[in-house]
Amino acid sequence: MVYSDRTRQLFADELTSIRGKGLFKEKRFICSAQDAEIEVEYPEGAPRRRVLNFCANNYLGLSSHPEVVAAAHQGLEERGYGMSSVRFICGTQDIHRDLENRLTEFLGTEDTILFPSCLDANAGVFEAILGAEDVIIADRLIHASLVDGIRLCSAEYDTFKHMDMKHLEKKLEAHQDKRHRLIVTDGVFSMDGDLCPLGEMVALAEKYDAMVLVDECHASGFIGKTGRGTHEHFGVLGRIDLITTTLGKALGGASGGCVSGRRELVELCRQKARPYLFSNAIAPSIVSASIKVLDIVSGSTERRDRLEWNTRYFREQIVAAGLNIREGETPIAPVMLYNAKLANDMSRDMYAEGIYVVGFFFPVVPAGAARIRVQLSASHTKEMIDQCVAAFRKVGEKYGILGLDKQGIIDKYGM
Ligand SMILES: *Cc1c(COP(=O)(O)O)cnc(C)c1O
Repeated sequence: MVYSDRTRQLFADELTSIRGKGLFKEKRFICSAQDAEIEVEYPEGAPRRRVLNFCANNYLGLSSHPEVVAAAHQGLEERGYGMSSVRFICGTQDIHRDLENRLTEFLGTEDTILFPSCLDANAGVFEAILGAEDVIIADRLIHASLVDGIRLCSAEYDTFKHMDMKHLEKKLEAHQDKRHRLIVTDGVFSMDGDLCPLGEMVALAEKYDAMVLVDECHASGFIGKTGRGTHEHFGVLGRIDLITTTLGKALGGASGGCVSGRRELVELCRQKARPYLFSNAIAPSIVSASIKVLDIVSGSTERRDRLEWNTRYFREQIVAAGLNIREGETPIAPVMLYNAKLANDMSRDMYAEGIYVVGFFFPVVPAGAARIRVQLSASHTKEMIDQCVAAFRKVGEKYGILGLDKQGIIDKYGM
């Protein structure tokens, strides 16, 4: 017997231990379209209720936009349901090429290759372009999918302290003997909402003959004056060698990712990247809807402007309420609680107040850095944000943390 009673018991014990610590991730079901207001079944089997969603990556509110849905219908009608092939065999339609060209134009690069997801883009890009003579120098807090991709590649892997450009410079100096140096970072870090100092990074890359790869999943569509991303924000459009990003967040929220950048690097991905060669092509409905999304975000900055206003307003109000927020300017606004059980308990109470948010704790964030990560959307109204802040005030009061600083919360609840 392969799955013996003993084996089952060991796995069950591990789950019991997670539950015992109050860290169990429960299932939550959304029974409506993704939007600022959603219908949720939680806990499992409980009656559905309408709540405000403050934890989606639906930054621009395009996930259920009528024009995007209509474009998806059109793609479905005209090009069918699925491709039943990887890209290089018979999985590439002209609309895949159109979308790649539109992304190239939007991101200000030379060429783009689509992947089934950004996780796949990150899994494929390093191995396709680098080898054992090369080095990757990455920020220590890069996204898990970048770490996984780097592990699949034979280049040496080195890191620098989070956003520490002096430390990066030391590493660049130390690796001058390598054939290629590739600096890797997130544009916006998904857990803290930090903006990577990309201007300085590009200057260092130019000084030390290195390339830069930026993962723009939490930036594409809304960071920068016209939403092109972190490189626009820092005025280095056209100087980034590789951008990886997703269609699964601000840009419609379905799925799909890409590598966009220098012509030769993208072409090498077409020749060698394993998720491109061995995983199915993005469905036509998603491709045509994504083209519509690019029409919308290129045509007007209204949505990213609204998001910027909402972000500033929420951040001001939550500080005024006496909660601890990680400072910044991105719509990722982490309300810091430090203690994992506190984050989990408070998110449950927020749900009772009609606000859907989730507690984040180890291993998603470092131990002792638990939080409720709030994400703003262009589709939130001012009234919705007021409601969210009021709920935080009420729940924060219940746990006695209003007005406490980091040490105060840790003294009360532990790490
Ligand atoms: C979400 C995310 C990904 C993965 O994107 P998918 O398209 O969902 O696979 C990769 N990198 C970062 C930084 C992300 O936030």
